[in-house]
Amino acid sequence: MAGEFDLIDRIRARVVARDDVVLCIGDDAALLQPPAGMQLVVAMDTLNAGIHFPHDTAPADIGWKALAVNLSDLAAMGATPAWCTLSLSLPEPDAAWVDAFLDGFEALARQHAVALVGGDTTRGPLSVCVTVFGFVSPGRVLRRDAASVGDEIWVSGTPGDAAEALAQWSACGARDPALRARLDRPTPRVALGLQLPGLAHAAIDISDGLLADLAHVCCASSVGAEIDIDAVPVSDALRAAGLEPDTRRTLQASGGDDYELCFTAPVGARDAIVAAALEAGVPVTRIGRIVKGRDVVATANGAPWTPARAGWDHFGG
Ligand code: ADP
Ligand code: MG
Repeated sequence: MAGEFDLIDRIRARVVARDDVVLCIGDDAALLQPPAGMQLVVAMDTLNAGIHFPHDTAPADIGWKALAVNLSDLAAMGATPAWCTLSLSLPEPDAAWVDAFLDGFEALARQHAVALVGGDTTRGPLSVCVTVFGFVSPGRVLRRDAASVGDEIWVSGTPGDAAEALAQWSACGARDPALRARLDRPTPRVALGLQLPGLAHAAIDISDGLLADLAHVCCASSVGAEIDIDAVPVSDALRAAGLEPDTRRTLQASGGDDYELCFTAPVGARDAIVAAALEAGVPVTRIGRIVKGRDVVATANGAPWTPARAGWDHFGG
């Protein structure tokens, strides 16, 4: 059994180095040098075992996801990630578990040059809390409250995959590893988020379900939205699951955990957005429009459509 300080040493040995980290893990606090003239963007997300990931999730996947969901929040702000902190609550001080966790965490951290600069290690039920820090130029941030009537609504990737993976896991039947990978290792759309300031008006990342998260944008912006749910792209893996169309629509509209970006932009930005998405290497699709009002209204085959389940709320059930 390792001690707390042995675990911290293992973590310290693996972190990404950055010139703007003056003091890293090892002192009472980290000392960081933000770039002159930039605004600091901060986000925090916690993953609890059995609530935010299935109990059988591999430690490396937990590490990946803990950072990914946080980077997704920075992506939705149009921010460049720089640093993070990590609070680890572990039932046992298990060095092998921490090493495996770091395999996933640091793989994603290296992709985005994110330095883990500090944290806390405690004993308790398995829980991982990450805070990320990034930068934006003043006035270039993507906010939830900036959608305008007439904007088109866009979504990245293929929402619904993670929700179907969770459904397959819960049903204990056949499980598609490609879908499970989308649940365990979401891809934060950082490159796309960085392309959007100046083109998009409002943005949010889809953690709780497309309609629920879009409703947050509408509420913050005092606008309504119309979505054609059949315009939401379907991945090959989700199609191969052979679901009833309405079951599939519900997963795509209300399933959480995809960490795709949903954003609004004026019609005139269409071509520039397609070019930006190409540059970022992620497909984007127009799925609706911002309208007057307050409601998010979905249609399927031209008729009004409501999902069987509205969205994911950890405390609302
Ligand atoms: P203190 O008791 O002064 O709060 P700790 O013993 O908790 O210090 O932590 C010692 C150092 O290790 C600090 O720099 C802290 O940021 C870092 N640290 C502790 N746990 C983690 C972790 N899970 N990930 C990254 N850094 C950590
Ligand atoms: Mg401490």
